[in-house]
Amino acid sequence: MVNVGVLGATGMVGQRFIQLLDKHPDFEITALAASSRSAGKRYEDATTWYLNESMPESVKDITVCETSPEAMSNDVDILFSSLPTEFAAKVEPEFAKDYVVASNASAMRMVDDVPLVIPEVNPEFLDLIEIQQKNRGWDGFIVTNPNCSTIALTLTLKPIYDAFKINKVYVSTMQAVSGAGYNGVPSMAIVDNLIPYIGNEEEKMESETLHLLGNLDGTDVVNADFSLSASCHRVGVIDGHTEAVFVELDKNEDIADIKNVMVNFKGLPQELDLYSSPKNPVIVKDEDDRPQPRLDRLSDNGMAVTVGRLRKDAAMDNSFKYVLVGHNTIRGAAGASVLNAELINKKIL
Ligand code: NAP
Repeated sequence: MVNVGVLGATGMVGQRFIQLLDKHPDFEITALAASSRSAGKRYEDATTWYLNESMPESVKDITVCETSPEAMSNDVDILFSSLPTEFAAKVEPEFAKDYVVASNASAMRMVDDVPLVIPEVNPEFLDLIEIQQKNRGWDGFIVTNPNCSTIALTLTLKPIYDAFKINKVYVSTMQAVSGAGYNGVPSMAIVDNLIPYIGNEEEKMESETLHLLGNLDGTDVVNADFSLSASCHRVGVIDGHTEAVFVELDKNEDIADIKNVMVNFKGLPQELDLYSSPKNPVIVKDEDDRPQPRLDRLSDNGMAVTVGRLRKDAAMDNSFKYVLVGHNTIRGAAGASVLNAELINKKIL
């Protein structure tokens, strides 16, 4: 077993980590860290548990520690980080001197020598780990996963990008409130309402997607060569981001062929049969009223993205459109880091 810890363990994503790691065949939780508000308390006492699944017995009595390498038990190999971005920027590099850090935070995602990875999309970016350790003299390293809405979008674009030539993508999101953390959006602001702005989200979707679909050329990532425009919105859904996606190709393609590449898409996690990998990363539904967050967010334990309403777009030449749903705290956050760690555990550690 590999001993693992969770940074930001009491938060929205931290709780998902705990749920996904409970009974994991390869990883065992031995350390939980959060802010000084929680440090020193039993995990059960420190945490307002919000998931439908009960808090696992195995973590209730763990004493939450301060988030610093000095406070961390030596008996940990991988740290999953779900820290607020500003704090992550400060402490993740300190932890990476000695530990493997699999991070959800955006702080280090676009740093040149830090791999930003979706295992089905760009596992080869893990080659940056060796460069990172050499550059910084670290024994550990940082690997990051993308923003929640980016992961779902990129998983669906990858098979299209590989099979056809994309000119442009427009995406309009309807994002769940859990994406903002437990205290992120007051109920009085979101019930009976929609908020048409999520700070930095559009910029992250636009830059991370092109980076993930790009090529690793030695030490540099060369971005994918199409343009992408995102408009991001918060809606009163608890879990599950919905996205309306509009794609322009360089020539006309049959919808049946587009569906075919999505349905048959598989990547390295499926080939290696990693524990958390979905059988099919992208599921395509034919019903007119799918996907819906409540019905589809937990597809394949929340690790698959569900696509529907795949159809031609009459407004633009050579274009089609679809709707997707992905679970933001599972495939879009904790599950993404756990899958990265499973791949690292199999290929690198
Ligand atoms: P959250 O619910 O607000 O949880 C934040 C966690 O960080 C809590 O455990 C909190 O501990 C801890 N923390 C806060 N300030 C700290 C400090 N100064 N020192 C040490 N620990 C501190 O937030 P979240 O939604 O889980 O998001 C966490 C990270 O994941 C963010 O970077 C976010 O952008 C990213 N992310 C979130 C999602 C999502 O869908 N929610 C998706 C992708 C990425 P206390 O309880 O002790 O305060």
